[in-house]
Amino acid sequence: MRERMVVGNWKMHGSLVGNKSLLDGILTGLAGVDSVHCAVCIPFPYLFQAQFTLQGTELVWGAQNVSQHEKGAYTGEVSAAMLRDMGCSITLVGHSERRALYGEDDAAVAEKFIAAQQGGLIPILCVGETLEEREKNITAEVVERQLQAVVERAGLEGFSRCVIAYEPVWAIGTGKTATPQQAQEVHAYIRALFAEHNSKLGESIMILYGGSVKAANAAELFSMPDIDGGLIGGASLDANEFVSICKAAKRKAA
Ligand code: PEP
Repeated sequence: MRERMVVGNWKMHGSLVGNKSLLDGILTGLAGVDSVHCAVCIPFPYLFQAQFTLQGTELVWGAQNVSQHEKGAYTGEVSAAMLRDMGCSITLVGHSERRALYGEDDAAVAEKFIAAQQGGLIPILCVGETLEEREKNITAEVVERQLQAVVERAGLEGFSRCVIAYEPVWAIGTGKTATPQQAQEVHAYIRALFAEHNSKLGESIMILYGGSVKAANAAELFSMPDIDGGLIGGASLDANEFVSICKAAKRKAA
């Protein structure tokens, strides 16, 4: 049976004081919540604070982006090794905001995926279609292209050490959530793509849903058979909301 995971993406939000109370609130709320991996992806400057505050706890921390380069003359970039040094275990790769605002194409995303793994991190690979693409009925094609770009460079083996996040761009930060059925359809499609090549991988790969998930809609989304948890933006900035979403990801006893 696949494990469950909920990851918060703080985006460019936070301050030393605000983070302290948010992290303390999450830690308090999560006490006794087992069987769900909970994580926060926080801005680079605060990774030191995360390491200090979260070391020895069950809450995992990571970054929202990583350089595809190992080291060198790349002003402003942060390598996977640096993130490991700050105790990160995970990093987002290919978030739609990075793709749309910073020109990260499929090839760059694939390189980041590989760099993250080589540096000892688990990449959370974000894929998803825009509204225009959904309306043109090419969601499956877009998601397949985004995944294929990484498979070509990292090989299928790379996917045994990663998490996929399906995030329809039209649902991110908009308050418009995909219906559980819409999300399930794409998750099942992604799983089938991997299963075609390797049935074990298709069955085991963890696929999170992201896009306006909140406490009020989390349980319904997470009840779908191919949704293993969530990538949470706005709602991860509120400790109670985030904790409720983590609790909703607990698998119901059969
Ligand atoms: C995200 O930032 O990845 C995200 C899903 O944001 P939100 O939950 O705010 O839609």
